[in-house]
Amino acid sequence: MTGSERQFSERLFEEAKNYIPGGVNSPVRAFKSVDMDPIYIRRGKGSKLFDVDGNEYIDYVCSWGPLIFGHSDGRILKKISEFAENGTSFGANTEIEIKLAKLITEIYPSIDLVRMVNSGTEAAMSAIRLSRGFTGKNKIVKFEGCYHGHGDSFLIKAGSGVLTLGIPGSPGVTESTAQDTLIAVFNSIESVEKLIDGNKNQIAAVILEPVMGNAGVIPPDAGFLKKLREITRSENIILIFDEVITGFRVAPGGAQELYDIEPDLTCLGKIIGGGLPVGAYGGRRKYMEYLAPVGPVYQAGTLSGNPLAMAAGYETVSILGAEKVHERLEEKAGLLEDGLRDNMKRLNLSYKINRVGSMMSLFFTEQDVRNFNSALSSDTKLYSKYFREMLKNGIYLAPSQFETAFLSTAHSREDIQKTIEANYNSLSSLM
Ligand SMILES: *Cc1c(COP(=O)(O)O)cnc(C)c1O
Repeated sequence: MTGSERQFSERLFEEAKNYIPGGVNSPVRAFKSVDMDPIYIRRGKGSKLFDVDGNEYIDYVCSWGPLIFGHSDGRILKKISEFAENGTSFGANTEIEIKLAKLITEIYPSIDLVRMVNSGTEAAMSAIRLSRGFTGKNKIVKFEGCYHGHGDSFLIKAGSGVLTLGIPGSPGVTESTAQDTLIAVFNSIESVEKLIDGNKNQIAAVILEPVMGNAGVIPPDAGFLKKLREITRSENIILIFDEVITGFRVAPGGAQELYDIEPDLTCLGKIIGGGLPVGAYGGRRKYMEYLAPVGPVYQAGTLSGNPLAMAAGYETVSILGAEKVHERLEEKAGLLEDGLRDNMKRLNLSYKINRVGSMMSLFFTEQDVRNFNSALSSDTKLYSKYFREMLKNGIYLAPSQFETAFLSTAHSREDIQKTIEANYNSLSSLM
């Protein structure tokens, strides 16, 4: 059965709104940008999601990236329950924290020491505090359309005339906070140079998603990351790669392995939690030992290094290392991309597809998508229709044009074939 009947989901959403703001615990789940009410999930298995109305979908959200082996992978579940038998949280040290930290440092040569937190938001906030504490400088540079969680310093819009100071992107973020966040344009090294020239010796860090994944997928141009590395190094600015999505996703060692760049600090999350709540940040010893209890920069967490999350993460990262997961993902994602391109040829459409490994986006625009502005040229109304058509055809995509589709190892060739057919049907019905 496919997703046209959704009466239980509708009922739950009505009830949820009585107790939870907007009925949801994270805004995108409200499905506002696809003009429909959200579906409620009963369970997931492999590549499939099952909703409370008994509809089945092939899932390309994969919990927004963490589920690289798909839903309810037996190996991860087994590890979690093994650990749960011995208690769920101690607020004290456990061996599994060391094992995961050691594994991360082995896979990420730029990371000597790593600190666990509970979310990607926390990782990015903490990496910024550490950068400011270490350098004694206040300003940071972020890129338009890059998402680093909901910390105040990141909820900043570009001011008028793009390369000005930031302005608050949400009520509740103060202007003084916004002033310390400078906004650059992805894939434009000139935009970064201008900000650096205009703010000499005031910039603590440049933070970015090395492959943008929160405006849809936007890969870095050849040389962009290398040049960024060179400038930040020569200006004594800390370069932070937010690899919360790309870490373990585009390669075991993330985008820094794929593009061969060594950032100073790295933020991780999503996949390293194996589906449980985790974030982490790490880097060279000289920076990381500036953190309490060794150094003066404070950061802490009651549930940080939670044993269940560490166990799920350790198992996930171990399997990724042992199996040729990324080759298989690349092959399947390639098949999907080829299928979608074929469909567009047949239908005489020229929408843009961006893909890096198992991250992919179909943008409803005919412009090349190289930065946030070009992503914004997409026809979001059309995406909304496309989303609903795909859902009817049993395919669950992210409920927004500006998100990434993720493949997991659980996606079969048959799933991909079905998706290509659904894409053909959905695209034809839009015209
Ligand atoms: C998801 C995400 C975050 C935030 O992580 P949460 O766990 O949702 O707080 C930060 N950075 C990037 C690149 C992300 O994709």
